[in-house]
Amino acid sequence: QAKSAGRNAVRFFDPEMQATVTASAALATDLRQGWREGQFLVDYQPQVGADGRMTGVEALVRWQHPQRDRVPPAHFISIAEETSLIVPIGRWVLEQACAQLAQWAKNPARAHLTIAVNVSVRQFRDPDFVDEVMTAIRDSGISPQKLKLELTESLLAEEMEATVAKMAALKDMGVYLSLDDFGMGYSSLSYLKRLPLDQLKIDREFVKDILTDANDAAIARTIIGLAQSLGLGVVAEGVETQEQRAFLAKQGCYEYQGFLFCKPLPIGELEEFMDSMEP
Ligand code: C2E
Ligand code: MG
Ligand code: MG
Ligand code: MG
Repeated sequence: QAKSAGRNAVRFFDPEMQATVTASAALATDLRQGWREGQFLVDYQPQVGADGRMTGVEALVRWQHPQRDRVPPAHFISIAEETSLIVPIGRWVLEQACAQLAQWAKNPARAHLTIAVNVSVRQFRDPDFVDEVMTAIRDSGISPQKLKLELTESLLAEEMEATVAKMAALKDMGVYLSLDDFGMGYSSLSYLKRLPLDQLKIDREFVKDILTDANDAAIARTIIGLAQSLGLGVVAEGVETQEQRAFLAKQGCYEYQGFLFCKPLPIGELEEFMDSMEP
């Protein structure tokens, strides 16, 4: 590559770029070691329905490196994807979620709760992915309807036929399929119609300024309308204020996730939060 770049190869010695490359190589090394040493945790963030009661949670992976401050997923997920570490990490998150669902299934006050698990493109494309989901469901003995997989629009950028076939296989198992960060990508509406989806998830980007930015409000309204006309559920992420929630409800979105209700919590604190909500 350096050779074919010829004269432009000087770019490789741009100190700033070099620093970035070195930093992410170091992060990749730490990530691999962190994975071997079990430095990952799963936090759970509540999702609530129209009546304010919890419908379930989203599982969000956390990396607690002994020296670094908590590295946010936004930083390490892309590196985990590049190095394919996301495949075992993602499988582990899935197993954690299924084990938690199995626990809740034994408690009548919790048995209705769902867990949403994020699935990266690299993970979804893995030839074993469908089998892994099947195994995780079978080994934990959970009812597959309680497991939600959050897929992203970037899956739709290529290999459309294979994507639809895989989604259909997951759907046949009874798993719930949600399209995360909706509106940020470029899914064409004709694609959307062909996907065996259950839900669209409105990205926080549009919720953030929904009260002040007419464009964001219009986008949110369009997504809600689209979900309704395709017969899909819709949930809004990043809801931080009562006003945002009221606006979303007025547009027909009755499921929410965000700091207004609760931030992502370790399982122990989540259980306490749920206890405190019960009468
Ligand atoms: P996401 O799936 O869109 O998850 C929602 C993100 O929004 C989470 O960030 C959550 O903490 C944050 N959030 C929720 N409510 C609010 C709010 O009211 N205000 C604000 N400012 N933020 C809110 P987090 O945990 O940092 O995760 C970032 C992204 O990393 C996730 O976005 C997801 O794409 C990815 N991710 C997290 N866990 C996993 C995982 O297990 N596997 C994969 N493949 N990706 C993951
Ligand atoms: Mg998500
Ligand atoms: Mg999201
Ligand atoms: Mg998001």
